[in-house]
Amino acid sequence: MADCIFCRIVAGEIPADKVYETGTVVAFRDVNPQAPKHLLVVPKRHIATLNDLDEQTIALVGDMYLAAKQIAADEGFAESGYRTLVNCNEDGGQDVFHVHLHLMAGRRMGWPPG
Ligand code: 5GP
Ligand code: ZN
Repeated sequence: MADCIFCRIVAGEIPADKVYETGTVVAFRDVNPQAPKHLLVVPKRHIATLNDLDEQTIALVGDMYLAAKQIAADEGFAESGYRTLVNCNEDGGQDVFHVHLHLMAGRRMGWPPG
């Protein structure tokens, strides 16, 4: 989608600090990190929210988690730990309407999240 910021990052039209890429997903560093390590894993295909996943696209969620697992190993926080989350729509705190998995590490996470 031409007006989607994450589609534009996937396409290389706007810069991002990309750390990982497969045939189906891309991961890059969050521009406004909420932890010492904060990455976003996005499907290359535009899907607006979790609500828009279906049987044809649900495998992308697995691809996103496999990417997160690999990045955690590569960045050295697999054993110390990390948090993954997906925000959905207004009450979930979603600001960018292209599904993305937040991958955060490097500090002790609070619970419950705000
Ligand atoms: P959401 O609130 O939608 O779950 O998360 C959107 C995330 O995208 C935020 O953490 C925000 O900092 C990040 N973000 C928004 N615009 C950009 C951008 O242009 N580049 C990068 N790297 N991150 C972005
Ligand atoms: Zn998009």
